[in-house]
Amino acid sequence: MREFSYSATPAYRAGPMKQQTVVAGHYSRYGAKWGRAELPPIDFDRLRGANPLAAVAGAAVKLVRAGNLLKGACPFHEDNSPSFTVYPDQRYHCFGCGAHGDVVDFVMALHRVGYGEALSLLDGGQLPKVPVREPSGDDRERQQRIDEAAAIWANSGPLSGTPAETYLRRRAITIPLPDCLRFARLRFRNACRPCLVALVQSPNGDPQAVHRIFLTESGGKADLPGGKVKFSLGVLAGGAIRLSPVAPEMGLCASVEDGLSLIELTALPVWAVTGDPSMDKLFLPDAVRSVVIGHDADQSGRDAAERTAQRHLARGLRVRTLAPLDGFKDFNAELMEARK
Ligand SMILES: [Zn+2]
Repeated sequence: MREFSYSATPAYRAGPMKQQTVVAGHYSRYGAKWGRAELPPIDFDRLRGANPLAAVAGAAVKLVRAGNLLKGACPFHEDNSPSFTVYPDQRYHCFGCGAHGDVVDFVMALHRVGYGEALSLLDGGQLPKVPVREPSGDDRERQQRIDEAAAIWANSGPLSGTPAETYLRRRAITIPLPDCLRFARLRFRNACRPCLVALVQSPNGDPQAVHRIFLTESGGKADLPGGKVKFSLGVLAGGAIRLSPVAPEMGLCASVEDGLSLIELTALPVWAVTGDPSMDKLFLPDAVRSVVIGHDADQSGRDAAERTAQRHLARGLRVRTLAPLDGFKDFNAELMEARK
């Protein structure tokens, strides 16, 4: 069997994808092996139109739509996270192994065939294909929210010396603050306000949402109409605020403040979500074998912990739940009392 190397075709990879018709230059990467005379003229627009990458790749890889993109486990390396991404321009890229190309490259690599054979496989309609669902209005709207969240994250800065740091220190949190927390001044009802911004990352580490806690200049909670100060933007399901690096045993918490308090109280590495309803949707990497589910001392917290426990037990993980000491509503209340 022949090893396929993507680096063999750098010029082609870098060049424009769209080929109107076969031109000599397109074959030149194969030198004399594929002279023009040896191949019948092929209309690439027609070939690609008849063989969308998502349809051909989707038959080999289970692809899940994420906005404009399709993602799945890479067929070219051992992939536990969805690193293989199909872009709207009919190209793919793997963030794990660097595999990259168009539908012809995909067929060459998957079936370990040469360029000419890949073309004839495609042209002959011999390859399995799956129907491709076009992005719906919902998908585009979802992607727009993720993009907005990513823009807020990109425009936020370190916590040090900001009202967001004061907010956390006033809550008796003394540990070094993680990089997934930043500070920004964000608009709320025509006024710019200080804000603690927490990054919500997807299972493969991509930003998928931000969680914002609006504050006063002195590090208190902002006085906003309706009393609500915490707002999420993006897609929350499955995501986590990674307060600690991933570890074989992870603590889980329903808020940033309680998550940091749990780290401080127990020294466990902790990931947080943005409220009880997101708790049982959090996706843990395979490296995690044991979870400690920290929850608030109310019915909503206990229910969320129970749902989350069942989910991880079903996946074969060791599960413990942890409640605040009697008399405290959450871990931060417990920590603040302990630090008095
Ligand atoms: Zn790969």
